[in-house]
Amino acid sequence: MLLFHHIHHLQNFLQQAKSKQTTIGFVPTMGALHKGHVSLIQASKQQTQLTVCSIFVNPTQFNNASDFEKYPITIADDIRLLELAGCDVLFLPSVTEIYPHGLENKSHYDLGFLETVLEGPTRPGHFQGVCMVMERLLSIVQPRHLFMGLKDYQQCMVVKRLLYLKNWEQQIQFHGCPTLREPDGLAMSSRNLRLNAEQRAIAPVIFEALHYLKQQLATGWLQQIKMEAANLLLNKGLKIDYVEIADADTLEPVKEWNGTQTVTALIAAFLGDVRLIDNLILTS
Ligand code: AMP
Repeated sequence: MLLFHHIHHLQNFLQQAKSKQTTIGFVPTMGALHKGHVSLIQASKQQTQLTVCSIFVNPTQFNNASDFEKYPITIADDIRLLELAGCDVLFLPSVTEIYPHGLENKSHYDLGFLETVLEGPTRPGHFQGVCMVMERLLSIVQPRHLFMGLKDYQQCMVVKRLLYLKNWEQQIQFHGCPTLREPDGLAMSSRNLRLNAEQRAIAPVIFEALHYLKQQLATGWLQQIKMEAANLLLNKGLKIDYVEIADADTLEPVKEWNGTQTVTALIAAFLGDVRLIDNLILTS
């Protein structure tokens, strides 16, 4: 695997690859890699000829300074995992490489309704920061294919919206990849490393709550079942940001299910000071 810290070195290399018609797949990450990330590398390897992974803990998408400071960094392990996965290129830039003019967001991304629900109000500025870094990374790598995890469901929708806003939909094909889970159902996440043993034992309740919503959807009492799912979390001591059932295409909250609409359940909750998110399509 080749490792680049600097944009111009990476671009020189990618330019040569592109001149030989090599199809490039891109997997952006913030590191502390796990099998979920590896599954994105594998998806890219299956569909492209050259896979570029980036590791960059993006300061502009953290609305909480201590969350940023405590974000796990495991670069040596990450490099080992990427080499085992057969990743071709790792881009590991510094903050000044990505943001030479500072961290201030000069362009406002019109995310419309998407920014007003779920993660939007609970993490102000988060998706603007996601768009800022994704615009920069995509401009640098200019991949043909982009692989991201549906674990961050709303983020996938935001990035698709960014591709639309930048008129990049034709050049860059977006792939939303399935969520990899631990055997007990907990969605794999870099933040799981911050859970202590007791919290780790409790954490699968998030998936249990999603699963409960899936089982109960057909009852039609969405308000009721959301309350019951929330109680599962509260009883285990989690602090809830949201438990929502939403249209899978728009993220518009669904009050009554018509039996055919594709709906998804989304949960964000704190275990101690670790914020976890997860989601599950309820209608498949
Ligand atoms: P992150 O490093 O958390 O920014 O995640 C980098 C990419 O990996 C994002 O596209 C995530 O949605 C994706 N990802 C994170 N966790 C998982 C998982 N458990 N399964 C599949 N993809 C994931």
